[in-house]
Amino acid sequence: MGKKILTYLNPIAQLGHTEYSLSFPLLINATAYLLSEIYVYNIVGNEGLVGTYIIFVSVALIIYFAFRDGIRGGLLSTATAVTYYLYILYSREYTGMRLISGLETTAILGFMFSLMALTIGWLKQTIDQLIIREKHARYEAEEGKVQLQTILQQLPVGVLLINKKDGTLDGNKHMEKIIGSKIPKYLTAENNGRPHFAFKNNIRMLSKEWPIVRALSKGEVVAGEEIEFLRRDKRKIYLRVNAAPIKNNNKEIIAAVSTLYDITQEKDLERRKDDFINMASHELKTPITSMKLYIEMLLRWSKSTKNERLLKMIHTIKNQTERLQELVNDLLDVSRIQTGKLYFNKSKFNLTDLITEAIELLQPTTRNQEIIFDTKRKFTVFADRFRLYQVLTNLITNASKYSPEGSDIILKVQTKDKKVIVSVKDFGIGIGKDQQKKIFDRLYQVPDITEKTFPGLGMGLYISREIIKRHKGNIWVKGKVGSGSTFYFSLPTVQ
Ligand code: ADP
Repeated sequence: MGKKILTYLNPIAQLGHTEYSLSFPLLINATAYLLSEIYVYNIVGNEGLVGTYIIFVSVALIIYFAFRDGIRGGLLSTATAVTYYLYILYSREYTGMRLISGLETTAILGFMFSLMALTIGWLKQTIDQLIIREKHARYEAEEGKVQLQTILQQLPVGVLLINKKDGTLDGNKHMEKIIGSKIPKYLTAENNGRPHFAFKNNIRMLSKEWPIVRALSKGEVVAGEEIEFLRRDKRKIYLRVNAAPIKNNNKEIIAAVSTLYDITQEKDLERRKDDFINMASHELKTPITSMKLYIEMLLRWSKSTKNERLLKMIHTIKNQTERLQELVNDLLDVSRIQTGKLYFNKSKFNLTDLITEAIELLQPTTRNQEIIFDTKRKFTVFADRFRLYQVLTNLITNASKYSPEGSDIILKVQTKDKKVIVSVKDFGIGIGKDQQKKIFDRLYQVPDITEKTFPGLGMGLYISREIIKRHKGNIWVKGKVGSGSTFYFSLPTVQ
């Protein structure tokens, strides 16, 4: 109770409160002047001393109330003081010069007191506003923090945060679920900087190679990096990791955040799919080889029978079997790429000759499309001839497949920056910008809006890209939907 009264009376304790009272200053002022009237006049009696004393009381009350109740409190105290001075003039029956000088003094004091009340009151109210604003900001920041924490905890991905100042870690529940243990207080590595639980392609990562550490120390933004993680229970899981630095207003890195997705199941499925492709293509290879053998024998035999219908049918079977074999070969290649078993047999040869050869073989298979190539210059490359032939075949057959009957296909070779660049241009359906990167992905085919279907499985460009990449070259495409495409690939030149 006593403490409550003290708080109520203490103007400092009232800072930040904007319920300025009018009744309390009025009550205290009135009481003070009433006491003065009784005590000072009746007991002290000396007028000079009394004047000084009363002014002192007024100043004290005005300062106190301006500081406690703002401008209103100060002005109310000023008004009470002036009223009391006027009462003195009236009750002591001042007349003439004394009355005039008394009124003048009262007016001057009233003016000064008002000024003082306004200044102190304004100061007090400004401080109050500042305190309230600061309280509000703090409240909002805390509210934001709570909201963020809740979102963080509810996210279905692992979130890891690292503080730059002291290196402490924080994270959400899902993160603990992924790693199968509590989030440690600090990132830990072994002495040589190689932690025992993070791997990339089966090789132990250095701690400075972790996405979150790169984001923290170099400000790197990491997107979709795949790493392996060995849990405490010895289970190896696959993670897709993103990381980004967190900066303050001065653009200094103060922390880093990383999100982690457990893609173990996805990886497992992918591996099983690869295993299946591998097995299926191997299983299909043997029967096709023997089928081809028997077809050749049948062909020879049917030629002697001179039965035209039979001969035509066997030719159709032969063509279809060859197509089947090409598909199986592509499947095998995809599987070799996936398992890192695509090998090359490189030699030096003239690329111009190879292109001419490919065109001679493919020209009869196009639908009245002329393949134009008039380069005679020699371009020596060091590559796997058979595999490059495969790339050329793929690009030319695609150019033919995705273009109208009777249109031209133009091939060119040029050198630029110590590279040979081959281009295959067609005047067909073209490829949209958004698809131009994706078509080189495994099994990717451009979704067809016209519902016109083209045969194929989307393996050719994937295999071609891998072949070119492994020759230290590049493969890309330019063009627009409806106005044809130009495919390019580059290879290092050889003297
Ligand atoms: P496939 O032709 O067997 O479907 P590819 O890997 O060779 O597989 O090609 C992938 C996809 O790229 C094709 O399905 C097609 O949508 C697109 N594409 C390839 N070449 C061309 C081209 N010359 N013009 C238009 N689209 C093409």
